[in-house]
Amino acid sequence: MRIGIITSGGDAPGMNAVIRAVTRCALDKGMEVVGIHEGWQGVFMGGKYFEPFNWRSAGGILQAGGTVLGTARSDAFRAVEGRRQAVRNLVEAGIDGLVVIGGDGSLTGALILHEEWQDHLDALAAANAIPPEKATNAQPFRIVGLPGSIDNDLYGTDMSHGADTALNTIVQAVDKLTSTADSHQRTFIVEVMGRRCGYLALMGAVATGADWVLIPEEEMDTRWHIRMADALKRGRAAGRRHDILLFAEGARHNDGLPIRAETIQEVLRARTGVEARVTVLGHVQRGGSPSAFDRVLASRLGAAAVEYLAEPDTTPVMIGLIYNRPAATPLSEVISKSQAVNTEIEQGQFEHALELRGRSFMDALNLLKTLSRAEPREEIGERGRIAMLTGGPDAPGMNAVLRTVLRYAMNEGQDVVGVRYGFAGLAREDIWDLQWMDVQSWMTQGGSELGAVRHVLTAQEIAQVAETIRKWDIRGLIVVGGLDTYKEVTKLVAARAQYPELSIPMICVPATIDNNLPGTEICIGADTALNNITDAVDKIKYTAGAAHRAYIVEVMGRECGYLGLSSGIATGAEMELLPEDQLTLESLVQDVNRLREGFERGKKLSIVVMSEGASPYYDATFVRRVMEAEGGGSFDVRTVILGHLQRGGVPTAFDRIQGTRLGLWAVRRLMEDIEARRTDANVVGIHGRGVEITPLADAMAQMDWSTGRPKEEAFMAWRHLADTLAKPGPGWAREC
Ligand code: ADP
Repeated sequence: MRIGIITSGGDAPGMNAVIRAVTRCALDKGMEVVGIHEGWQGVFMGGKYFEPFNWRSAGGILQAGGTVLGTARSDAFRAVEGRRQAVRNLVEAGIDGLVVIGGDGSLTGALILHEEWQDHLDALAAANAIPPEKATNAQPFRIVGLPGSIDNDLYGTDMSHGADTALNTIVQAVDKLTSTADSHQRTFIVEVMGRRCGYLALMGAVATGADWVLIPEEEMDTRWHIRMADALKRGRAAGRRHDILLFAEGARHNDGLPIRAETIQEVLRARTGVEARVTVLGHVQRGGSPSAFDRVLASRLGAAAVEYLAEPDTTPVMIGLIYNRPAATPLSEVISKSQAVNTEIEQGQFEHALELRGRSFMDALNLLKTLSRAEPREEIGERGRIAMLTGGPDAPGMNAVLRTVLRYAMNEGQDVVGVRYGFAGLAREDIWDLQWMDVQSWMTQGGSELGAVRHVLTAQEIAQVAETIRKWDIRGLIVVGGLDTYKEVTKLVAARAQYPELSIPMICVPATIDNNLPGTEICIGADTALNNITDAVDKIKYTAGAAHRAYIVEVMGRECGYLGLSSGIATGAEMELLPEDQLTLESLVQDVNRLREGFERGKKLSIVVMSEGASPYYDATFVRRVMEAEGGGSFDVRTVILGHLQRGGVPTAFDRIQGTRLGLWAVRRLMEDIEARRTDANVVGIHGRGVEITPLADAMAQMDWSTGRPKEEAFMAWRHLADTLAKPGPGWAREC
C-alpha cells in the first residue's frame, strides 16, 4: 500500500508531529509513504510536489511549528476539472490512500474527492489519460482525515491538534496584559481567532479568569452592550482593578453584523467613561512550537490513522479524540455536523448552535458567567460552611480548582472557607474566611495560594480536626491533592466511629504532577510538568555542540511512568526507562546496544527519558556509567535531572481548564450531598467516558500498593507508539 500525506488549509501547530507519526507508523507496517507538498494545490500540481518519504524525512520536525510539507489554499481543487487532474496525479503516482490533515474545508475537499473518485477514473480512462485497467480494477481509494485546526470547530473530536498550543499562546498573552492592566487599572479588549467558533475565546476566558466574553455561538440580544458595561462597572465598584474582555473575531450582533473591537470600545467609552485598549492577537496564535499535549495528540491520532488504513473498512473517516481515546467518525458525518453549527449561527439559531457544540462547551459558558461576576448572586444562607484545602506537594492548577469552588458555592449562597497548609492547618484551625474578590487573580498563579504541605495526621490531630469541623460548622470538605492527601481523607473516614463530626461529605480532586492517582486518567498539574520537561528537552536538543551524545533526562512521577512516557513521545526521545518496565542490567545493555546502533548509523544526539522511580536499585548516575562503559566509545553520556523545575511556573491552559472543570464537578456534588444529608467520600476524575465520580474506597482499591501506582494505567497503551516512533527504521538506515 502506498499512502500520501497532505497538510491543507490554515496551518496548525502539531501538523509536523502528525506527519512524523503517519510516516513512521506506515513505514513500520511496510507501507510506502509519499509526502505531498502544498496541500490540495500540490495534489493538483503533481510532479515535484510528490516526494517519496523515508524514515529520515520525518526526523527533527517534531518540535517545529507550522508544517514542513507546506500548506496552501487551492482554488484549482475547488473546481471539478482540478480534482480530475488531482485524481490523475494520484493514480499515476500509484497512491492507494490519502491522509489529509486540516480543518473542515480541507476535509470537505477530501470527501468530495472520494465521492467523485470513480467518475473521475472513468472519465480519465475514456480520455486515455490513465490505463483502462486502473479505472476498472481499482481498489476503493482510501481517505483518512485528521483534525488539524486551532479553531477546534470540528465535530468528531474533543480536541483538534493546534488548539491547545493556541490556547497557551492566548493565556500567556492575556496573563501579561492582566499584569499591566492591574498596575494601571486598565481595561483591555482582546481579539482572538475563531471566525465561526468561540472555543478559543471561551476557554481562553475561563483559563485567564477574564471578565467578559463574546463568541459567535451566543445570542446577543439588543441589550448585550448595556449588560456588559453594567457588569464591568459592578466589578470596579467591588474592587477589581482591571477588566479583561475576550472576544472571538467572529462574534456578531443578532442580525449577523460583526461586532468590532471599536464597537466595544465605544460602548465602554459612552457607558462607563473608560478608554479601553485593544489588542488583536492575530497570527501569533497559529505559530510557534506545539505544546506537549498537541505533540502527543498528533502522534496518537497519526498512528491511529495508519491503523485504520491497515483495516479492510474503506469508509472515509476522520480520526479524532473522543473522551481521551482515538475514534473514527465517518467523514460525511464530521462535515455535515460541523457545518450544521455554522448554518445555525448564520440563521440566528443560537441555542441550537450551542447545543451542537456539546455539554462541556455549554458548561464552560455557564460557569464563566458565574466566575466572572462582581459579587455572588445569593446572600450567604444559614447552611454552615464548606472547607477546602490543598494537600502537598503542590501542583500547578490547584488554584483554578479553589477559585471555582469558592465562587460557584458562594454564588449559590453557600459559605466557603479556605484552610491554610493542608491537614496540618485543619488540625490547628488555620482557617481563611475567603471572600469573593480574594480569589480574583488566582487563576494565573502556580502552586497553591492556600499553601500545600504534606502532612500525616496523628491520632491527636484527628481529634483536633473533628473539633475544627464542629467549631466552624463545616458541613463538607473539598480536598485537592495527590496520593498522600487521599490517604489522609481515608483516615478521617475511618475515624468517623470515634468522632461523629467527621461524618460529613468529602470529595477529593486529583492534583499532582505525577499523574499517579486512582479514579482518574488525568491529574491537574501533569500537563504543566509535561510542558516544562518538553521545553527543557527542546533546549537540550539545540545544544549544537552535542555531537554523538546521549542525554539521560530524569523526570518526576514517583512510581508512575506517565511523565516519562508522555515526555518521551513529546520530545521524540529514543527510549523511556519507566517504573512499569523491569529495569535490569540485561535490559540496560540491550538499550545501550540500540543507542550505539543509532549513533553508528549517523545519529548525533539521543534522548533517554528516565522516570525517577524507574528502578529501586539503579539511579541515573549508574545508568550513565553503564551506558558509557558498554557504549564502546561511540558516544558520550550526560545526565540532566530536571527536579523541581517540573512543578514550577504558571499553570498551562489545560491545567487551568481541567482544574476549573473538576472544581465545578466536585463542588456541585458536595453541595448535593450536603443537601441530601449524605456523608459520601468520593473522588472526582476524568475517564474514557468523561468526568466521573467514584467512591474513595473504590478508587483506593484500584491501587496496586506493592508498586505504588494504579493497577490500570490508560497511558501505557501509548508504549507501542513511543517504541515505533523511536525505532531506527529501515529507510533510516539507508539514508545514514
Ligand atoms: P481549512 O481546512 O483550514 O478549513 P480552507 O477552508 O481554506 O481551510 O480549505 C482548504 C482547501 O480545501 C481549500 O483551499 C480548497 O482547496 C479545499 N476545499 C475547501 N472546501 C472545498 C470544497 N467545498 N470543495 C473542494 N475543495 C474544497
